[in-house]
Amino acid sequence: MATIFSKIAAGEIPSYKCAESEHYYAFLDINPLAFGHTLVIPKQEVNYIFDINDEQYAGLWAFAKKVATALKAAVPCRRIGVAVIGLEVPHAHIHLVPINKERDMDFSNKKEFPAEEMQAVATRILEEFEKL
Ligand code: 5GP
Repeated sequence: MATIFSKIAAGEIPSYKCAESEHYYAFLDINPLAFGHTLVIPKQEVNYIFDINDEQYAGLWAFAKKVATALKAAVPCRRIGVAVIGLEVPHAHIHLVPINKERDMDFSNKKEFPAEEMQAVATRILEEFEKL
């Protein structure tokens, strides 16, 4: 059965799309740690990130690097924090989180933002991504 993230990448479940390429997809985390918190996934379904083959793995991180550049341009911050957890959704993903201080990466402190703000920031990230 397809994972929820496969359905998102296929457009079967709506998401706030931030970037897309042939093999990878980026979208806003629905319960962000910080405004602009983005998830980067391979379209191919693999549960555990370190089970991805070397070529796809390198491609995933290269794509994430581009998304992080777009995210930093769209959401002013000190750094883009990076994390891989994977305890909730069994489809490999990289968390990219705009941060100004260490506590902004606290996974026990999820936030909510209005739909219009989520849509606006996703659009900004996508616009920045398309410039790269
Ligand atoms: P992890 O698997 O890394 O522990 O966490 C999964 C992340 O995916 C969480 O931060 C959670 O908020 C996010 N998430 C779970 N389900 C959905 C969903 O249906 N849509 C989106 N956009 N994010 C989700």
